[in-house]
Amino acid sequence: MVVSLAAFCVLSSIFYAGFFLWWRPEKWEFFVALGALSIPVFIGALVAAVRGSVVGAAVTFLATTLVCLVPFAVVFSVSSGVQFLFLAVGFLTLAALPDRLVVVRLVFCGVVIVAIAATEIVAPPGSSAIADTDPAFAAMAIGMRLGGIALVLTAITMILLRTARLEQQLVQLAAQGERRANTDELTGIGNRRPAMRELEMVASDPSRHAALALIDIDLFKTTNDTWGHEIGDAVISAVATRIEASMGRQCVVSRWGGDEFLAISRPGHVTIESSVQKLMQSLREEPIEVGDATIEVTLSVGIAVRHPGTPVSETLAAADEALYRAKSEGRDRVRVAPPRPEHGATVHRTPRSTSGTAGSA
Ligand code: GH3
Ligand code: MG
Repeated sequence: MVVSLAAFCVLSSIFYAGFFLWWRPEKWEFFVALGALSIPVFIGALVAAVRGSVVGAAVTFLATTLVCLVPFAVVFSVSSGVQFLFLAVGFLTLAALPDRLVVVRLVFCGVVIVAIAATEIVAPPGSSAIADTDPAFAAMAIGMRLGGIALVLTAITMILLRTARLEQQLVQLAAQGERRANTDELTGIGNRRPAMRELEMVASDPSRHAALALIDIDLFKTTNDTWGHEIGDAVISAVATRIEASMGRQCVVSRWGGDEFLAISRPGHVTIESSVQKLMQSLREEPIEVGDATIEVTLSVGIAVRHPGTPVSETLAAADEALYRAKSEGRDRVRVAPPRPEHGATVHRTPRSTSGTAGSA
């Protein structure tokens, strides 16, 4: 846009220099010289804008335009329509200069206001040495008014377009931030936040049946020790992808922490045990491959079903307890929490210490 405006200024200067050369009113030599001198300046601004120095170009063409308009206003008075062009410079300042140049924008707008007020006082209508009735003067005045109005409208359009673009960027940034806040960096699946949100939704709907599955990689510390932390990362990521691929449609799947994942059945899905079994079977049949390494991974899973009226925290604790049983009974298996007793004792989530090499999850 600044390129177009600079090009417009070059053409206007050529036009006005030619116009004064043809018209030759009083002091025409001065205005022809002014027009001719401003042409290389505007061309410089145009070149700068094309090369990417948009701000420098905008400041140059705005300042040059203002300087050219001052003698114009003094000699030809308000009747020439010069104030329309002053106004256009003010709007173009807001449109072409970035918001961060607060002081520069304020200076330009201040100069424009002073110029408009001063012209009104120093060169009121009819004060020009050239009669308003001169047809060339009248034609020039019409050109100035229409040109000024066109430039103001252009500037307003630029401002509106910029605002719309900024709004769009803001919406995209907010969506990006929200996505990042809900995504586990390593695996790309949901982190604890969406899982907690889903648990809250389950809790807030007393009639919703929901199945929770806590899925933990077996003996993952050994994987880390054997293959190194980097390959360990890749294994966690691959397991997350497998869980998401096999259960993502019926469950909200998230990385609950470390090598542990939580799947919460979506409304309408309660039986998740069969898909958990399929997931485990697929891992047995197709071990995870990282580079040249083939890594056999097994999972232990604890499932608990939340019946309407049961606090979600109890269901989560029951799933955790079931996972603990799966680990202690040999790993690579699924255990389902027994239906909750009428007034069952609350099971607290405690650090697991399973037999063998198991540690805390
Ligand atoms: P168990 O069968 O009892 O689950 O044994 P485990 O070795 O898997 O024990 P546990 O689940 O308690 O330990 C998980 C280990 O996962 C501990 C930690 O070193 C490792 N770990 C946690 N987060 C990451 C991670 O982001 N990357 C890697 N490479 N390792 C992780
Ligand atoms: Mg583990």
